[in-house]
Amino acid sequence: MAGQEQNSEKEENLNILQSTQAVIKEALDKLGYPEPVYELLKEPIRVLTVRIPIRMDNGTVKVFTGYRAQHNDAVGPTKGGVRFHPDVTEDEVKALSIWMSLKAGIVDLPYGGGKGGIVCDPREMSFRELESLSRGYVRAISQLVGPTKDIPAPDVFTNSQIMAWMMDEYSRIREFDSPGFITGKPLVLGGSHGRESATAKGVTICIREAAKTKGIEIEGARVVIQGFGNAGSYLAKFMHDAGAKVIGISDAYGALHNPEGLDIDYLLDRRDSFGTVTKLFKNTITNQELLQLDCDILVPAAIENQITKENAHKIKAKIVVEAANGPTTWEATKILTERGILIVPDVLASAGGVTVSYFEWVQNNQGYYWSEEEVNSKLEEVLVKAFDNVYRTSRTRRVNMRLAAYMVGVRKMAEASRFRGWV
Ligand code: GLU
Repeated sequence: MAGQEQNSEKEENLNILQSTQAVIKEALDKLGYPEPVYELLKEPIRVLTVRIPIRMDNGTVKVFTGYRAQHNDAVGPTKGGVRFHPDVTEDEVKALSIWMSLKAGIVDLPYGGGKGGIVCDPREMSFRELESLSRGYVRAISQLVGPTKDIPAPDVFTNSQIMAWMMDEYSRIREFDSPGFITGKPLVLGGSHGRESATAKGVTICIREAAKTKGIEIEGARVVIQGFGNAGSYLAKFMHDAGAKVIGISDAYGALHNPEGLDIDYLLDRRDSFGTVTKLFKNTITNQELLQLDCDILVPAAIENQITKENAHKIKAKIVVEAANGPTTWEATKILTERGILIVPDVLASAGGVTVSYFEWVQNNQGYYWSEEEVNSKLEEVLVKAFDNVYRTSRTRRVNMRLAAYMVGVRKMAEASRFRGWV
């Protein structure tokens, strides 16, 4: 018992990169891959750190740090978003790039994973400063990226405008129009119908499939969503439209709760572009209280490490569906699973975004654009299949849904690395 406690303490103290590595190791062991495969996949093959000097509006120069990590390109070019956030670290970007590889494997896209980040707070920067920073980042990483090399996209606090500036900068450097360099662009610049709401659509599909396995009706189900950014806000709308009762939402500053259901249309109307809305209300609760609300479906759609071994025992939801990357620790995953709570892990539940990014890239490459219905029906097909695959693996191999997702996600990359003769 004492040994077990020590062990779990050790696990909880691992940072997100180390705990991702631990799960990758377990997945590869279960699949029977030899040690060198783990040695290759435990870290990105390439990580670039850049320093980006920007002239701020007040005339001073500020130097920002940015990263681009490319996890594994055995299957195809690497792919994944760029986040602008004050808490970005190199290890976080590395872990996020590994998660992108897993997502690509789970939804069966011809990509490996990549991820970028800049340490900054876009909430405190002007439009002009953000444009300079976006362009400066692309100049700094331009040698490493490209439509057949590594394809960025939006992530936390980045959006279609930022993608447009980045695409423009890349096209200027290369001296030809390169829409396929980046996804999540505005429609007029080669964006895809359905990309903006794609992450939330994917989460909605996973919620529906997970609810079926638990015999929960979406109509009337009580849903709590942590985070009101791109994924959280679209998801609130989709759940509300499907007849569910969204009883709690939050942003970085607090949370709102109404057991009768919140007025989602009003909240969507009042949120700012960073998803802030709770500042307008007096009766707020904390994000921690929000996570512990009595509900059927809990969706962490904000940032990492929200459900840990400290609060996993207090979660009352029947299903946890992760729209954010890394909101639940490995230790907490095991606690939730033991308690009979079905967890749909990030690498599956949030894969709708990169799936439609793939559709966007295909459309850019062929110069032929699809209708929204076409995009949505293809997304539906891909995610239903992915959910089914992970769920069945979890049942047949008797492992929790996260380990099952890692097993499904890592396989193609491991195979491709072997066929290439790397390991
Ligand atoms: N940043 C998103 C993610 O974490 C989307 C990546 C993409 O579209 O390439 O999945």
